[in-house]
Amino acid sequence: MELLKGKTAMVTGGTRGIGYAVVKVYLENGAKVALCGSRQETVDKALEKLKAENPDYEVIGLCPDLMNPEEVEKAVATVKDTFGGLDIMVNNAGVSARESIYDYKPEDFAKTMNLNVDAVFNCAQAAARVMKEQGGGVILNTSSMVSIYGQPSGVAYPASKFAVNGLTKSLARELGKDNIRVNAVAPGVTRTDMVAALPEAMIKPLIATIPLGRVGEPEDVANAFLFLASDLASYVTGEILSVDGAART
Ligand code: NAD
Repeated sequence: MELLKGKTAMVTGGTRGIGYAVVKVYLENGAKVALCGSRQETVDKALEKLKAENPDYEVIGLCPDLMNPEEVEKAVATVKDTFGGLDIMVNNAGVSARESIYDYKPEDFAKTMNLNVDAVFNCAQAAARVMKEQGGGVILNTSSMVSIYGQPSGVAYPASKFAVNGLTKSLARELGKDNIRVNAVAPGVTRTDMVAALPEAMIKPLIATIPLGRVGEPEDVANAFLFLASDLASYVTGEILSVDGAART
């Protein structure tokens, strides 16, 4: 079943990890997709990989600076012009942080907040303007398990994801009247580059706290994004959907 037949989507952080898995499952379900990355080279690589899997996929690659509202607006306009509209905006690009509060540099705190929060605002704003005009749409954000429990280091990361939840719940209330649903997916520990960068000593105890006894795969998370983007979720808005194997840490 093609759950997203005829829909168009833009996915930030779509070159690898969770974002790439979202792009792939959206394409498999009939959507036209614009994937965004921070470097042209990685965007091209992702496009090449997808086209090798299925040359019929309708997918383009973009490289806007997500922290720059004008560049984001231009990217959204490109998607609209190329595909005829924008139905689904997935704000997934993000960076993690592990610094101790005692030596946290304010500029590092700001860097994490800029990408994880400001960029979500920029993309949601640009997408909502187009969606309102076309009669509706779906905005999805990548939150995190740490948005519920916090994290014992790198305070900008959990703080940014608490903010993502706040954006999600508030925008759902503001945009419902324009037929725009807004939800977030809160992944637990998921097997991506972000997690590969963590020391083994940090991963092992994490797995021990997960009732399902394993870390999540990007596809586990992408399937939640598929459900929330589809009409199966037509009455779901303002939700933070945990995909974490019931991890409580
Ligand atoms: P990843 O590092 O594999 O991918 C991150 C993506 O973000 C890449 O596509 C990259 O191009 C993009 N990105 C990074 N910096 C950027 C910038 N400055 N401008 C534009 N794009 C940029 O990470 P991932 O694990 O797939 O993470 C994706 C999302 O999932 C993030 O928001 C992350 O916080 C969230 N998340 C991940 C996990 C996990 O365990 N992997 C858990 C909870 C939440």
